[in-house]
Amino acid sequence: MKTRILLLAGGQSGEHEVSINSAKSVLEALPKDQFEITTRVISKQGRWLGAGESLQALSSGAAESGGELMLAGASSAGEFDVVFPLLHGPMGEDGTVQGLLTLGGIPFVGSGVLGSAAAMDKIMAKQVFAAAGLPQVPYAAALRSEWRAAPDAVRARAEGLGYPLFVKPANLGSSVGISKVRHPGELDAALNLAFSYDRRVILEAMTQGKPRELEVGILGNDAPRASVVGELSFDAEFYDYDTKYTEGRAQMHIPARVPAEIAEQVREYALTAYRALDCAGLARVDFFYLEDSGTVFINELNTMPGFTTTSMYPKLWEASGLSYSELVARLVELALEAR
Ligand code: ATP
Ligand code: MG
Ligand code: MG
Ligand code: MG
Repeated sequence: MKTRILLLAGGQSGEHEVSINSAKSVLEALPKDQFEITTRVISKQGRWLGAGESLQALSSGAAESGGELMLAGASSAGEFDVVFPLLHGPMGEDGTVQGLLTLGGIPFVGSGVLGSAAAMDKIMAKQVFAAAGLPQVPYAAALRSEWRAAPDAVRARAEGLGYPLFVKPANLGSSVGISKVRHPGELDAALNLAFSYDRRVILEAMTQGKPRELEVGILGNDAPRASVVGELSFDAEFYDYDTKYTEGRAQMHIPARVPAEIAEQVREYALTAYRALDCAGLARVDFFYLEDSGTVFINELNTMPGFTTTSMYPKLWEASGLSYSELVARLVELALEAR
């Protein structure tokens, strides 16, 4: 009998379109003799579209509205063997959908509530990384209510870190809402932007100079494996949304052009981060590498990385000997594995 998969895509976050693109690739690649796949797109308003409407949304690239209430939609998830929540950002990658599926007793691909929530929130993840002894840049946290009531206290945290620094919504991805702040005159606008996305914001010291960017794929449950290390290069101030998603703006190098001992160190750190956050299934762990000093910093861990056929995560596994369709089939297996 074929495994019945419910593929969830879209969602309410700023990464709605990114998710739809990933879902199209998965839909095309899953071996049809093994799997029966139904896609349900979640609109930007959080409602679940029916199968027909979902296919329309996949071809148009987005679903602004439409669909039924989430709980009604989710009740149909019980008709499937596995759910693949190919959702990025809040209300999808952050443990909320994972909680719903856990309550429903429905196996799903990827990390559970704990790993998803802890990894999504950059402030929480940094605290966990620190406890695990992983090297990272200095940072500070701020709440929207603090920014409203005592903006000078928040500005002082930025001064403490020095410039340039990065201001980010704590729970988001695809660089949405992130600013590189070069001097104090740019700080307020960056904070206002980040707080328009999240009540929690992180301020991060920039690495000493523009870093090289390394990424590792992790695959597995309690005995995870690390892929070869990949590298991204681009001609931009930082790896922002346009650089990420405009064809030809960023180049992928697999394997990364780094000494073997750096690659090994990064793979080890990635596994440590994955275990520390209690992840499952998959994750892409991102690092900064400073060639001059030979230092590596962990940046973040993404529990549901971009998943088109040309995205870094599947490419890393392809280079490690697992084709795109084998990778998806393995993720489904891991979702069904008793732990
Ligand atoms: P993703 O799409 O991978 O989920 P994200 O939205 O979670 O990304 P980050 O990875 O935290 O965002 O940051 C985006 C980019 O900003 C990084 O890839 C890097 O180019 C730059 N950047 C972020 N923080 C720093 C830092 N502390 N020092 C130097 N560059 C940074
Ligand atoms: Mg991220
Ligand atoms: Mg992400
Ligand atoms: Mg990133």
